[in-house]
Amino acid sequence: MLIDNHNRTINYLRLAVTDRCNLRCNYCMPAEGINFAKNDKLLTIEELKTLSGILVGQGIDKIRITGGEPFVRKDLMELLRYLAKLDGLKDISATTNATLIGPYIDELKSLGIKNINVSLDAINKATFERITRRDQYDTVHNNLIRLISEGFNVRINFIALDGQNTQDILPILELAKHYPVSVRFLEEMPFNGGSKTFQKIAWDYKKILEHIREAHPDFYKLESPSTSTSINYKIPGHMGTFGVIPSFSRTFCGTCNRLRVSATGDVITCLYAKPSANLRDIMRSENAKSNVEEQILIAVGSRAKTGFEAQEKYRDVFSNSMTSIGG
Ligand code: SAM
Repeated sequence: MLIDNHNRTINYLRLAVTDRCNLRCNYCMPAEGINFAKNDKLLTIEELKTLSGILVGQGIDKIRITGGEPFVRKDLMELLRYLAKLDGLKDISATTNATLIGPYIDELKSLGIKNINVSLDAINKATFERITRRDQYDTVHNNLIRLISEGFNVRINFIALDGQNTQDILPILELAKHYPVSVRFLEEMPFNGGSKTFQKIAWDYKKILEHIREAHPDFYKLESPSTSTSINYKIPGHMGTFGVIPSFSRTFCGTCNRLRVSATGDVITCLYAKPSANLRDIMRSENAKSNVEEQILIAVGSRAKTGFEAQEKYRDVFSNSMTSIGG
């Protein structure tokens, strides 16, 4: 088991398989993108398999595949086939913009990978195109509905962006009325590759909840796992649920069970912290297993207690883009 220096069990790995993305969401990166890593700096699929095996051996039992956009990586399914058979791994999930997932839906289902988070920040096509700077709304919408109809456990992640998409909060909630999905509203974080900086946000989780309450005064709170980052609710009569994720307010750090590894092998113990180590060269050298294990133990043993503590220590962390960190 991995236990951190604040006595929290770390069993959840967010594994980024690429830093590249086919969308250019304006709150994530500049229009021209960021300095994407060279191919030889990205972990290969073999390295991702080996690394996953080592970390599962250390106590990780849940892996979420992220990116960049994970499905831009043509060899992704090879990794997923391996993970599906990995002893000790109980839960495999993916976070995607749902532009490229279509051809893989059947195989994902047959591998038993059913938990898919779809990032969708607008239900209005023009708003979607303005935010993503790409014309992919119909594909995303079709894939989303297909995933739901095929029985995947789908959660929609919607970042509340002041002046951009908050008029879509109530309309996108209608999806939870008609479908068994969870629509989660997240606070914006300043990880946008330097496009803009901010110290506070207009749409924090409290304001999002107040806005929803005006239209749906009778929603009620649901029980959630203690390590959940989302606070979950149900509107009577809706098939699905909704949630808020205080990712900027950081109310959930006390029970954080996560570790992140970026596509280039950086070990990140908190979104608001700088990497604690890089595993790529270690993976490519002798004694990879024991050296990786050692670096993971050091990283887990020196985690910031909260995102605020991490931010205090690493003041320039906000120049990062979420596409390199994995979200
Ligand atoms: N491409 C995949 C996707 O779209 O879900 C996975 C990677 S993406 C970086 C992961 C998540 O990070 C997405 O839900 C995205 O909306 C979120 N994200 C990116 N930049 C963010 C920011 N500045 N603040 C909050 N969330 C952000």
